[in-house]
Amino acid sequence: MADEKSADDSYDLVVIGAGPAGYEGAIRAAQLGLKTACVEREKALGGTCLRVGCIPSKALLESSERFHDATHAFAEHGVKVGDVQLDLKTMLGRKDRIVTQLTGGVDFLLKKNKVTKVVGHGRLDGPGKVVVTGADGAERVLTTKRVLLATGSAPIALRGVAFDGDRIGTSTEALSYPEVPKHLIVVGAGVIGLELGSVWARLGAKVTVLEYLPRIMPGVDGELAALAQKIFTKQGLTFELGVKVTGAKVDAGGQCSVTLEGKPDLRGDRVLVCVGRRPYTDKLGLETVGIELDPRGRIPVADPHTFETRAPGVFAVGDVIVGAMLAHKASEEAIACVERMAGVAGHVNYDAIPNVVYTHPELASVGKTEEELKEAKVEYLKGSFPFMPNGRAKALGQTEGLVKVLADAKTDRILGVHIIGPRAGDLIAEVAVAVEFGASSEDLARSVHAHPTLAEVIKEAALAVHKRAIHG
Ligand code: FAD
Ligand code: NAD
Repeated sequence: MADEKSADDSYDLVVIGAGPAGYEGAIRAAQLGLKTACVEREKALGGTCLRVGCIPSKALLESSERFHDATHAFAEHGVKVGDVQLDLKTMLGRKDRIVTQLTGGVDFLLKKNKVTKVVGHGRLDGPGKVVVTGADGAERVLTTKRVLLATGSAPIALRGVAFDGDRIGTSTEALSYPEVPKHLIVVGAGVIGLELGSVWARLGAKVTVLEYLPRIMPGVDGELAALAQKIFTKQGLTFELGVKVTGAKVDAGGQCSVTLEGKPDLRGDRVLVCVGRRPYTDKLGLETVGIELDPRGRIPVADPHTFETRAPGVFAVGDVIVGAMLAHKASEEAIACVERMAGVAGHVNYDAIPNVVYTHPELASVGKTEEELKEAKVEYLKGSFPFMPNGRAKALGQTEGLVKVLADAKTDRILGVHIIGPRAGDLIAEVAVAVEFGASSEDLARSVHAHPTLAEVIKEAALAVHKRAIHG
């Protein structure tokens, strides 16, 4: 779709960025009657999430899981297949098609909701003005009552490690390697390292994950992270924890060497650096409205309910502000923000935001970890239950994992639920709703769960909080 020209380039709201925060915020604003424009410098809309994040990574996780099942799991189900072969080109093509369908869908939705799409790099130019520079260098000036900054994030680079856009790169390259690496070295045992490390390991790569901390997945409940590490190790991932990467380079033959402090170099044919993401505010003109970044490069919001910055009429949401870098957190903030602009009630409950890692098995959680509760000196009761005796898990042939429910020792209110196991990412939805409604562990335990389903493990874990699980 071409850039839409408006005879009158003045708006109630100009959104900069068309990721989950920007495009969803723009659609909701238009629904609420605000004349809205959405500025995006990439031709394909949907941001990191749709183009090079959530969606392509999940497409490859699903496809590589199918390949792994065909080679490792079908036989147990009595399904005999012949010589299973990988067609990586088709797998990558499928992933690209899904991305194209979804980014095209965002175009359609903006049009349907009468949001003006403006393609180019947007920057603030003093109060009430956004200048957009197109690919041809031409500038277009939009005047507006309000601006919503939703410019997202970009990968953090590591000192001493130069990205060459091919052998040494970020998640973006790792979503499109043209052949399965023989040895993939992953720097960072966070979400991206484990999801994309899993993809390439399933397709046959030797995968070594290097992590600075003494544990994997900081932020995930420690008990679950330790169990996950055991399971991923069984799946063939090698972890080197507590190591410091000081450099990486590629030789003329395409071989990479990674330098580790106090240890011998590690050699592989590709390096994936995934040590976190930084808020993206490059050339955004923040200084023209008096906004200064916080020490971590984020745009500070002066009012956490309206998301307004210290510059009147300038708002910010999503990865570019404080908080978890998650697509659903970004879009919920954007919707609450524009609802408040339009005089409608809008709110984000940060205690009820689910977090999912799409490995196999998946990890999913809502609320506080045990470490966080201990640190805050909150007294809690714990109920946990394994997937092993669950009928549906047995039928699936996926019995690894457990559900852990943490409830306030005095009030029984649910403080945190942590799941590692089959389809944990879908199972957590029930828990997010329970937490949103302020449920107790007894509420969860008394709710009827269909049989035989994986969700029965959540019920049993809730029952276990007061030591009355039935099947364990
Ligand atoms: P973004 O999606 O980054 O969108 C910002 C947009 O703004 C971009 O399109 C950018 O081009 C545009 N932009 C920036 N500056 C300008 C400018 N000056 N002018 C015009 N346009 C501009 N999160 C999940 O919840 N679940 C997942 O499964 C998940 N998987 C991920 C996998 C990977 C590999 C990666 C990298 C991320 C993943 N994430 C996931 C994180 C998720 O992608 C982000 O949290 C989410 O995209 C943030 O949304 P946003 O709208 O704030 O920013
Ligand atoms: P992350 O913060 O999840 O993990 C980064 C890891 O790198 C951490 O374990 C950290 O200790 C380690 N690290 C940092 N510096 C290091 C160094 N010098 N050497 C070795 N290890 C080092 O970051 P990520 O995996 O890059 O993902 C970025 C963001 O994208 C995350 O914040 C996440 O929210 C989002 N994301 C979400 C999903 C999902 O929701 N399923 C999937 C992918 C990405």
